[in-house]
Formats: sequence, C-alpha cells, structure tokens
Amino acid sequence: MKMRFRCSQGHVFDGNEDTKVCPNCQEALQLDNCGAIQLYRMGNMMGMAVGMGIYIDDTPYGHIGNTESVRIVLPFGEHKIHVTHSTTRKCNDPVVTLSAQEPIAYMKCHLAAMGFKIQVDAAKPEEMPKM
Ligand SMILES: [Zn+2]
Repeated sequence: MKMRFRCSQGHVFDGNEDTKVCPNCQEALQLDNCGAIQLYRMGNMMGMAVGMGIYIDDTPYGHIGNTESVRIVLPFGEHKIHVTHSTTRKCNDPVVTLSAQEPIAYMKCHLAAMGFKIQVDAAKPEEMPKM
C-alpha cells in the first residue's frame, strides 16, 4: 500500500506501513492517533497525464497521477481536501473526519464540468483500485 507522509519539517514523501522516519531529515514520524485519507484519481477520457495537486487543510501533499491511488496519513480530526489541476483550481473542497472508529476516509476525484472543476466524493472501499 502506497502511503504518503508529511513530517513536521514539511517534507512530503511516500512510504508504506513500515515507514517510521522521514527520509529527508530522519525525524521520527508522529503516527499515534492517525488515520488516513485514501484518495483515488479516477481515469479520465480527457486523458490528462498531468498530475493533480493535493492540498490537505491548505497544506501541499504532493501530486496524484491519472488512475493513481494514494493513502495520506493524517491525525484524527477534520480535514479539508482540495485538489487542483493545471487547467483549474476549482474544487468542491469536501471535509472529512478521521477517528478511531473510522480511521480511513475513502475518496475519489475526477475532472468535472468539462475540465473546469475537480469533484472529490466519498467512495466505498471496494471502489479503490487494488494495490
Ligand atoms: Zn522531514
């Protein structure tokens, strides 16, 4: 499972379930009381290979490619999801809540409105691609 982390120094990097430290600054990650947003970028006939930019609570969290899925590790609580693309910065900006009871929010995103908006919607776990 591809997982994305952000250390307190602001380094964003990909790892997996075994990742415990930031590879850039060697800082130990704070992983207690954390859940994740699993974001899946649905395939799009507009065939845009350009990455979409991910922002959580207005903080950049890297990019997501076409048909890619990434699990973003975040502390429990409310988080605003904002996704941008080279053609648009409009997004419906959903807010999700991660908790011990529901640690993972499954979300899917795609270009909508003829490419002029990015729509991010709640999804079911079975809608996520196998990894
Ligand atoms: Zn770091």
